[in-house]
Amino acid sequence: MTPQQEQPGTGPPEVAPRPLTHREEAVLVALITRGAWAGDDGVVLTTDDRARWLAQVPTTRAGRRCTCGTCPSIELTDTAGWRPDAGDGRVVLQAGASGATLLLFVDEDRLSYLELAPDASAFHDFPDPQELNLLE
Ligand SMILES: [Zn+2]
Repeated sequence: MTPQQEQPGTGPPEVAPRPLTHREEAVLVALITRGAWAGDDGVVLTTDDRARWLAQVPTTRAGRRCTCGTCPSIELTDTAGWRPDAGDGRVVLQAGASGATLLLFVDEDRLSYLELAPDASAFHDFPDPQELNLLE
């Protein structure tokens, strides 16, 4: 990737974004609404934060999928295929699942990456949101 392509709004996106699957969207919504802050520095997420991110879901698309072959992690883009830059203001929400940890990255106040990190065996799709370990 060239530096120019890292700037939002310049040049064509590398991958045409596609709509989220029902499962991807359900997991995304579950993490936004009931994911736990993954940092340890006492940041408190407000209901306003979660509402703002939830409002982005209808215009969120899936970009590139992870190529490792053992996880279904996807980049999150807007309808034009753009992702925010990772920076100091990154927020990470997490939830536990059987055999994996799910992480949602929010950069520049935009949904950025939906990750499933398997403990051992490979995952080919995200788990049912009802099976996630979420905040009450
Ligand atoms: Zn992967």
